[in-house]
Amino acid sequence: MTARGTSGSWRYFDGEFVRPDEITLPDTTQALNYGTGAFEGIRAYRFGSGAMTMFRVKEHFARLARSCATLQIELSESAEQLAAISNELLERNDLQIDSYVRPIVFKRALRPGTPFGVRLSGVSAQIAISVVPMPSVHGGRNVTLWLSDVRRTPAAAVPSHAKITGNYVNNALAVEEATAHGYDDAMMRTIDDRLSEASTSNVFLVTDQVVRTPDIRCDILPGVTRSAVLRLLEEHLDVRVEEAALTATDLFAADEVFLTGTGVEIAHVTALGSPSHGRRVLARGPITSRLVELYAALVRQEPNQLMANM
Ligand code: PMP
Repeated sequence: MTARGTSGSWRYFDGEFVRPDEITLPDTTQALNYGTGAFEGIRAYRFGSGAMTMFRVKEHFARLARSCATLQIELSESAEQLAAISNELLERNDLQIDSYVRPIVFKRALRPGTPFGVRLSGVSAQIAISVVPMPSVHGGRNVTLWLSDVRRTPAAAVPSHAKITGNYVNNALAVEEATAHGYDDAMMRTIDDRLSEASTSNVFLVTDQVVRTPDIRCDILPGVTRSAVLRLLEEHLDVRVEEAALTATDLFAADEVFLTGTGVEIAHVTALGSPSHGRRVLARGPITSRLVELYAALVRQEPNQLMANM
């Protein structure tokens, strides 16, 4: 837990700004027992003036509301209110660098009369928001990717458009498998062997000037960064773009591979590995490099639409 008085030392919890040690949750918390929490990750970029702007805040809070709906939670705060609260939290914590905002809404306790057990209805919910410093990496991170045997949860089990805490167990297992093989992150597939996504980011392949990314049927979380990148590709690069069903063969045959996500932003994949394909080293490619530049300009220039409209 962060100490009082240092960066990240204010939190938002259930209607109030509090210190971390004022937040206590019982071991019976439903989300802790059953993985029934919905969350988001939003980047706040700091400008020369000292102002901070959250990138695509409206989209992130819209996705949070959709994830909450999956868990039968109706948020009592609107997207505009949540954005205002997050802005106040950033100000209170006086962060001097780019930061990351983490809202989480979780199932808490059985309401009187609700029978004990795993369920969604008749269970209360709470919201918490925290912020941590998270500088962006100039020129884009380098990430090595291991083709994992751990599969992404099929949408028929948990809707993949929802960012649900319980859905990250397999992602954590996949990351452990990847790091045990000496790689940074895991490339996960669907149960029918289509490429899906990395542990916390979407994946793109560039082959012969065609950019391809797994489509929505491949159990992906439709990333906010992914959609921004699809738009950048369309508007600024003279390449064909396809959302498609892709295989491990496509991955290992690609000229460039990159990841997109709030945390990683746009990351160059510099090596791929799997027992059957061996290790393939990739250069930081020109299309990825161009996108890294375009994305850096986009996140630093785009006005905060939501705030502007308030
Ligand atoms: N997939 C998963 C599983 C994720 O956790 C994330 C991060 N939210 C992404 C993809 C990328 O989504 P976004 O660009 O909205 O951060």
